[in-house]
Amino acid sequence: MGPPRLRVGLEALDTIIIEDFVNSQLQYLIELQTFDLRIFKIQDQQRKAPELLKAVEAPLQEILTRLQVLKKTGESLVTQRRSAERELATQEDSLHKVRNRLSELKTNKEYQAHLFEIEQARKKKDSIEENVLEMMERVEENEKAIKELEEQAGEAKKVFDVESARLEAQVAELGQELTDLERQQKMVAEMVEKPLLARYNRLKTMRKGFAVAEVRDGACGGCRLQLPPQLVAEVRRGDELMDCSYCHRILFMAHHLEVETLD
Ligand SMILES: [Zn+2]
Repeated sequence: MGPPRLRVGLEALDTIIIEDFVNSQLQYLIELQTFDLRIFKIQDQQRKAPELLKAVEAPLQEILTRLQVLKKTGESLVTQRRSAERELATQEDSLHKVRNRLSELKTNKEYQAHLFEIEQARKKKDSIEENVLEMMERVEENEKAIKELEEQAGEAKKVFDVESARLEAQVAELGQELTDLERQQKMVAEMVEKPLLARYNRLKTMRKGFAVAEVRDGACGGCRLQLPPQLVAEVRRGDELMDCSYCHRILFMAHHLEVETLD
């Protein structure tokens, strides 16, 4: 059993007056629902706006994160290069010292050992030198990658600026529209009889904004269930406001929309 139907209770009056009353109340409700649905939609869009902004910012953030990693790598590579350069200087120095000992040698055996020592020191120096060159190359490559990524970040920033400005404008526009809609919604709501408005508001909350439903081909436009023919006939007659036997939405028919609407 649903909530009690709104009884106009004006049996004494002319049927036409009753029909007019029911019709106008229905029209207000239909209009109210149009406003409310748009209000719901705007509120939903407003809720989603920060998320959209985040999505717009994501590509830029991703590039900036990669850039940070590359810069950190760059710092570490420069440190490694400097340390290799220091190591090279030390090794060059010791090679020089070994070579200078040549005059101190007396025997052929000592001389052979000395040559071997020089060869070892030179090999070590060459290996360190190779390492320095490799570090220099890696530093250079990394700097090139940073430059490329910085260019990409510049482009991404431009896109973000345009998109976020567009979003902000959209949000501001929605806010303005919402203010206008709420003012109009309030005006229409004041035209609806208090108990009917309370019932509408209850249904609105329960039915996600859809409190009023059109009868189409004998079915409720809200829950899509087939209505008893007797009920459909009553809705068509329009002596009183009827609700769906299943979802309890307030029912109307296409001809209720044809009468001039509020402006
Ligand atoms: Zn229904």
